Amino acid sequence: MPQLLAALPDARDFHLDSISRVHVDRYSRGRVVLVGDAAYGNALGGFGTGLTIVGVCVLAGELMTAGGDRERAFAAYDRKFRGYAKVAEKVNAGALLAPSSRSRIWLRNKLFSVAPLFTRVMALMDRFATDIELEDYPSSAPGATSVIATAPATSPPD
Ligand SMILES: Cc1cc2nc3c(=O)[nH]c(=O)nc-3n(C[C@H](O)[C@H](O)[C@H](O)COP(=O)(O)OP(=O)(O)OC[C@H]3O[C@@H](n4cnc5c(N)ncnc54)[C@H](O)[C@@H]3O)c2cc1C
Repeated sequence: MPQLLAALPDARDFHLDSISRVHVDRYSRGRVVLVGDAAYGNALGGFGTGLTIVGVCVLAGELMTAGGDRERAFAAYDRKFRGYAKVAEKVNAGALLAPSSRSRIWLRNKLFSVAPLFTRVMALMDRFATDIELEDYPSSAPGATSVIATAPATSPPD
């Protein structure tokens, strides 16, 4: 780290930016609908990919259910998904994962290296990850079985 810091002033290819998050009060307008980071980015929470995949499933399922009525589908997606995406709206793990002082870095490292503490953090993440009851949406292919299995809210993530 000291070597890296010393080399920074002369580096020509160094880029530093902030991670920013925009809170949107709805996921769609007209024919445009947001999914994933664009709608509920959770970059520093470590759960953005999961949110995106589940969001895509719900959006696709609602589009199928609405049979082409995109206004109805977008409204249902917004209504059913916003609760699950609350982790991205309310939690900011930045201060915990990228702390700005030595003592907080020490604390963070302890959190991830002491098994009982780590287990509690993971249990909290599990609560967010499983806090949705996915519907048994119809498949697009006629005669095919459903594409999404219903998972109980208490089951652990894969
Ligand atoms: C450093 C870092 C670490 C992360 N770690 C984790 C982790 O451990 N676990 C986790 O679950 N999540 C993590 N995430 C978050 C995760 O990467 C995102 O939540 C996830 O990729 C969001 O998927 P997305 O499809 O919404 O967006 P993206 O994966 O960003 O996909 C958007 C795509 O759109 C393309 N694009 C942008 N503009 C245009 C345009 N105008 N025209 C065409 N294409 C365009 C981009 O090139 C990109 O390919 C991390 C993110 C970062 C930055």
